[in-house]
Formats: sequence, C-alpha cells, structure tokens
Amino acid sequence: MFKEERTKSHFDWSMLGDIKEGRPNLGNKTTVDTYRLMQFTLRDVLIKHVGVKQSDEIFFEAGEQAGRELYKNVITKKETFNEFIADLQETMKNLGIGLLRIESADMETLTFTLTVAEDLDCSGLPVCDEEICTYDEGFIKGVLSEHTGRNFHVKEIDCWCSGDRVCRFHVKAAEQVA
Ligand SMILES: [Zn+2]
Repeated sequence: MFKEERTKSHFDWSMLGDIKEGRPNLGNKTTVDTYRLMQFTLRDVLIKHVGVKQSDEIFFEAGEQAGRELYKNVITKKETFNEFIADLQETMKNLGIGLLRIESADMETLTFTLTVAEDLDCSGLPVCDEEICTYDEGFIKGVLSEHTGRNFHVKEIDCWCSGDRVCRFHVKAAEQVA
C-alpha cells in the first residue's frame, strides 16, 4: 500500500479501511487538534526538506486528489450543478470540513467566489498575514473538475490567517479540459 514506489497515484477509497471494525469503541471520532497536528507537522517537515513552493504544490495536488475521490465516493446528487453544490455543502458540513457558501457564480464562464467558514484547516489560527489553505484550493479544484470535466484555477484570496473571518476562494474555469 505505502511501500511500493510509484509514479502515479495508487490511492483507493478502500485504503481508508473498515473503521467500524477497526475502532469499535472510538469509531470515526477524532479532534480538530489531531487533524491539524498531523497536517501541520507534515507540512513543516515538507517545507524543511523541499521548501515552501514544492510543499505548496504537494499540498495542492493532495487536496485535488482528495476532492476528486470525495466526489467519486461520497457525493451522490450529481444530476444538476445546484444538486451537486447542495450535496457538497451538506457533505462538507457533515464531515466537519467547513461551511461552504457560494458568494457569486457566473455559470457562463464557470467563475465563482466561494467562502468556507469554520474551515478545518485554518479557522482560529493565529493571524499571520498569509493565505494558508493550499490543500483546500486543491480540494475545490478537484471536486469541481470531477463534476464538470473542466480544469479550474483556484486561489484563496482571504483566509482566517490573513485576518478574515472566512476563507474566500476565487475559482475560474481554465481553457483546457481537465
Ligand atoms: Zn484559509
């Protein structure tokens, strides 16, 4: 599973395992601290080893993969864009990822401004003048690309860390297909 070298993804949803069987007492329960401890120590070590730029690329790519896999394995209402977004909002809320809102949408050009409140990755962190939600940028790209078959540019423009109360993302479809 993780001991084979690879040049392309080997990830499969089944790798997440049978949590009911494996954790009969603890189940799916963990804490935001635990999630952040894992992610931030990993990011810290990555930056130490490969630098900020490459670490960001790795986080973005992992987020994109997570978005695509979540779409394929969890999102169920996929008929129309509105149904898909409603299901995505519900799923992100249920999984404790954050509260997604569409602030503006242009369906002609597939250009959106999205916000995520109470974001799992950053809400409550010390303000540091950085937009840090690189993983979320990838995640949004992945989930939208999987639904539309288009490629997207996603950029976080406001973040809890840069002093806002929500994370705000500018999303725009790219020319080329995904
Ligand atoms: Zn953020």
